[in-house]
Amino acid sequence: MIGLIAATAAGRQAATQLAEALGPDDCRVYESPVGDAVRAAFAECAQLVCFLATGATVRLLAPLLAAEGSDKHTDPGVVCVDEARRFAVALVGGHEGGANALATRVAAALDAQAVVTTATDATDVPGLDTLGLPVSGDLAAVSRALLDGSPVRLVGAELFPLPALPDNVSPDAAADAPTIVIGDALAPAPAPAESAPPVASDGEDGTARHGAAADAAARPGGVPTVRLFTPSLVVGVGASKGAPTEEILGLVRAALADAGLDARSLRSLASVDAKAEEPGLLAAAAELGVPVQFFTAEELAAVTVPNPSDAPLAAVGTPSVAEAAALLAAEASELLVPKRKSTPDGRAAMATVAVARRPVRGRLAIVGLGPGARDLLTDRARAELRRAAVIVGLDQYVDQIRDLLRPGVRIEATGLGAEEERARSAVRLAQQGLAVALIGSGDAGVYAMASPALAEAGADIDVVGVPGVTAAMAAASLLGAPLGHDHVSISLSDLHTPWEVIERRVRAAAEADLVVTFYNPRSRARDWQLPKALSILAEHREAPTTPVGIARSVSRPDEWHKVTTLATLDPTEVDMFTVVTVGNTASREIAGRFVTPRGYRWQE
Ligand code: SAH
Repeated sequence: MIGLIAATAAGRQAATQLAEALGPDDCRVYESPVGDAVRAAFAECAQLVCFLATGATVRLLAPLLAAEGSDKHTDPGVVCVDEARRFAVALVGGHEGGANALATRVAAALDAQAVVTTATDATDVPGLDTLGLPVSGDLAAVSRALLDGSPVRLVGAELFPLPALPDNVSPDAAADAPTIVIGDALAPAPAPAESAPPVASDGEDGTARHGAAADAAARPGGVPTVRLFTPSLVVGVGASKGAPTEEILGLVRAALADAGLDARSLRSLASVDAKAEEPGLLAAAAELGVPVQFFTAEELAAVTVPNPSDAPLAAVGTPSVAEAAALLAAEASELLVPKRKSTPDGRAAMATVAVARRPVRGRLAIVGLGPGARDLLTDRARAELRRAAVIVGLDQYVDQIRDLLRPGVRIEATGLGAEEERARSAVRLAQQGLAVALIGSGDAGVYAMASPALAEAGADIDVVGVPGVTAAMAAASLLGAPLGHDHVSISLSDLHTPWEVIERRVRAAAEADLVVTFYNPRSRARDWQLPKALSILAEHREAPTTPVGIARSVSRPDEWHKVTTLATLDPTEVDMFTVVTVGNTASREIAGRFVTPRGYRWQE
């Protein structure tokens, strides 16, 4: 819930408008007096937008932030909007409270400017607390080194597809440099404290407040260290009927701790479906904050395990529950911890566990950049470009978004024609465990890289698609409303498709009276295909009255378009930067615009 606090008429009006934009169900407007409103919203909401001066807001928030129980990690994010609605200022809780992101949304909704002062957002280095992973340690000191450009050591980079990090971050940095540790990998012991005098903690970071033990973890050997936990561990659990929650929990914790593994890296528990209702198991998972995956006895019995036994075979029909479930759920081939039993006092053990780690999965984002203009690039596409460590794409597309990329990003640009090689290389990089963005203009799945990439990709990588505004849509909004009824796109490039196939499809579209958009319509070497395709369409439409839209370089500086007819179209006005849209028998030019009727009865 987002609490909206306004004191003036203008503020109330802005709050109403914002609630509409953000979704009224997600917002609650708090009435004045302002002090009470801020206190109530701070207690009740995940985020606040105050239509107040920053000074007034700071005074009201200060006692709340200083109060017992206030915590940087859980306090709401607060955004201030000025009376003239010019700025949306992320005031408190930039990252963890989501205020930076909220300021951006508020600014978009009110046509204001977002003001973000958190260092990592302002200087383009990813915040270590924004990666979606549990973080512990001396975040403040390590982030400062990251920003200052001084050496930062990275341990375990291969365990998670990280976004691009600046050049000062390296696995080869000195052992006494501020350190980022990914996963459970223990950093090799740093040099003795002499060469790395402990730096006084400024207490900005939550962990510094938790006393000596936490401080030792945050600064092993005096080296400021941040740990990021990747959700990779799966604990397979076998439980007898009625196994107590505490017995299962104790066993899970002991198995992890004895193997030097951290419960913050836990991904899930796994068991046999006969235990799907077992209260102790479900309660243990809830306590650990992870889901339980269940497998049938048949699935488990098919897994080869180090320690099969007769007891589960008799009880549930598989020689292994804990080991087999851990291996299956983790998609792993070996166990980190083989089966062990609980050791309750004075009675038989009721639980077994085994631990496996899910192998790292690379991340392939397939990102459509839209037709060209920056404001037609989606926020999601932008976020994926900044999430990536490697960008793969055609030079001209890389140029289109180069300024959005993070420092340190690796760019694999290639010239025209190397499509399959490009797709293969993107997949290969993702298979190495990297975060890769494969980019394409328009929508990356329309006559573009998504299909060749996914034809190569196996189930061993995660794939994320980001839709883009494809040329046919971008052109349509320029031409009028040509796609108001059934329509198809046909590429006239016979590079990958034999002309007979293309011609058959054009003929079918002509007979079916579909609006047709031609991609790749004409190049210097391919000049007869477009006239041929148009003549096939003309066999089924009135050439003088059928509108044809030509749209070139839509949303780019040299954008040009024209609405003409099948009878008068001049093919020399068409090139490879153009799409050509041909109407159906009902399409008309109205006031210079290309309109295809919806065909509603009431319009007849
Ligand atoms: N994936 C792209 C299409 C790639 S095929 C998309 O979804 O838009 C390349 C063809 O797309 C070009 O020959 C041209 O026909 C069309 N095209 C791409 N961008 C265009 C633009 N900005 N204006 C007009 N046509 C465009």
